Amino acid sequence: MTSVRVDEPRNVRDRIQIGGVIEIRDDCKACDTCTQYCPANAIINTGVGNRHKIDHDLCVNCGQCLVHCPFGKIEEVSMVDYVKDALNDPNKHVVAQTAPSVRVALGEEFGSPAGTNVEGKMFSAVRKLGFDTAWDTNFAADMTITEEGFELVERIWKFIGIPEYQEAGPLPQFTSCCPGWVRFFETRYPERLEHISSARSPVMMFGPVAKTYGAEKIGVEPSKMFNVAISPCTAKKFEVTRPEFISSGYDDVDAVITTREFAELIREKDIDFNSLEDSKADKLMGEQTGAAIIFGNTGGVMEAALRTAYYALSGEELTGDAVNFMAVRGEEEVREASVEIPIKALGGTPVKVTVAIIHGSKNVEKIWKRIDEDAKLDANDPNKKNYVFVEVMNCPGGCINGGGQPIRRDI
Ligand code: SF4
Ligand code: SF4
Ligand code: SF4
Repeated sequence: MTSVRVDEPRNVRDRIQIGGVIEIRDDCKACDTCTQYCPANAIINTGVGNRHKIDHDLCVNCGQCLVHCPFGKIEEVSMVDYVKDALNDPNKHVVAQTAPSVRVALGEEFGSPAGTNVEGKMFSAVRKLGFDTAWDTNFAADMTITEEGFELVERIWKFIGIPEYQEAGPLPQFTSCCPGWVRFFETRYPERLEHISSARSPVMMFGPVAKTYGAEKIGVEPSKMFNVAISPCTAKKFEVTRPEFISSGYDDVDAVITTREFAELIREKDIDFNSLEDSKADKLMGEQTGAAIIFGNTGGVMEAALRTAYYALSGEELTGDAVNFMAVRGEEEVREASVEIPIKALGGTPVKVTVAIIHGSKNVEKIWKRIDEDAKLDANDPNKKNYVFVEVMNCPGGCINGGGQPIRRDI
């Protein structure tokens, strides 16, 4: 696999912000396959037999075109040289944070069946490559779930008229953890931005916590810490290089390498991946709850955040029939389900709410139409749904099929 490299590795962050992450090579075969997979209509067909081009104002950097190009003519901008420079610099303390979907895809690069969980070998490989600390993005996934869940609670309190929460954002709340979707939202629906959760994605929550709390706890000068996200996602490269993400006082996350690039690094170092002993993430920011691991699947974020919100609003755990409401897990591109939440602040009065789960950013238009129609109905109309939460993952099936994952031809 080839990739786009920059001459001076540290300039790669600027390169990505200016020109995006994904490029079509000059020797494109003009087969037009990529246009079918682009959720953003960002691929320009310049005429029969002509090389296709990407409109970077529309592109969300998701890499779906790359994984589906049958001729391998689409490349991603690589941050690998930037990471190697840090690994070779004795003054840097290089931290890896590994995303949930990497551990269940990395094995494919070394001959394991799709879905094999190679978490233990993954952490061993991180150390063999010279990373100083092996932490886990799942640690921060829990923070994102809590943040999104409590933001949703505040928006619902506003909706039911609790005076202290009238400054909260409007309903429905859309998830913000998928950078492909966030970019899509920003470019297509700028007038509706208040609907998107203000919570950072797990990777971007992890970054500043690592460079403040984490650095202090392990005795590392924050300026010397270099954070690398190992990710299924090409859009993460755009996300971590956004200029606003410097709340630690430094670049919160320095670089991203995709699952494919991580596998390449392992091969390049002649590490026999399948013979590696299992090991665990380092303590402090390597722990997690079970909730975080579902982040990589479509429906996972909604389920986790809604459990948090249900408990906060009702004082009860989500159980029994209500759990079946979570059966919105499934394969359809747009799914929705309604449930009644007994609101503690209203003396247990049940309030019907509806959630939706979408994969494929281009399908969002369908849910906006339903939301706008619902808003026109009277509050007492039995057909009123009260959309409160919409989860959107850009890639089909979620991050498990992200643009940085091993290239398969069956998705
Ligand atoms: S799928 Fe690949 S070869 Fe076909 S038009 Fe797109 S970039 Fe070119
Ligand atoms: S990276 Fe995603 S949005 Fe950009 S051109 Fe490819 S498929 Fe379209
Ligand atoms: S679904 Fe996952 S892999 Fe795809 S763009 Fe969103 S965060 Fe990245």
